[in-house]
Amino acid sequence: MLSADFGNLAEAVGEVGAVADWLHLDVMDGHFVPNLTIGPPVVESLRRHSPLYFDCHLMMTNPGDYLSAFKEAGADGCTVHVEVGGTGELIDQMRALGLRVGLAANPDTPFSALEPFLGDVDLVLCMTVHPGFGGQKFIVDVMDKVGQVRRAIGSRGLSVDIEVDGGITSTTVGDASRSGANVFVAGSAVFGHARPWEAVEAIREAALVAIHQSAAPPR
Ligand code: ZN
Repeated sequence: MLSADFGNLAEAVGEVGAVADWLHLDVMDGHFVPNLTIGPPVVESLRRHSPLYFDCHLMMTNPGDYLSAFKEAGADGCTVHVEVGGTGELIDQMRALGLRVGLAANPDTPFSALEPFLGDVDLVLCMTVHPGFGGQKFIVDVMDKVGQVRRAIGSRGLSVDIEVDGGITSTTVGDASRSGANVFVAGSAVFGHARPWEAVEAIREAALVAIHQSAAPPR
């Protein structure tokens, strides 16, 4: 929702509500990232307008201080950044609250930082732009890390979603999908479109085509 009109968020939710699977809410604290966005009160207000899964991405230095507030506001899952530290404790806190547990890594953060926690999370978020602002260009180098996460969870038989966030369009989603991602966050590509629901469908279609291509037997 970062790229939606913040003055008309409920309307924006309505535009994609019938076609999107999740709503991804970017929370920025002005510290972990320079930008400021929304907090629990806005999540609570949106909750009244949508039954969709609320995927709250906490770009915050102290997410632990706010997890219960996000849960109470109606978050279904929260994702914290591995760079802020205290990861094991944050995971325990999210579990205790009944939140679905996500762990995010910035583009320059290596797979090795995520690896120790793969067995304890429901979702790994690989940032495909440097976090803080919408409208940035997809960093294709991150696909190596997406592949590493996919192989690790496969070899360990884990059920973990791999989410990519930043610069996702109907053009870039294929790379992400082939690399092993299965949750795709799109902002500008959706809300920069005159008919946002069509953009969601186009991105979904492009992701599915890429999966089928990569699943095709070698010739
Ligand atoms: Zn995000």
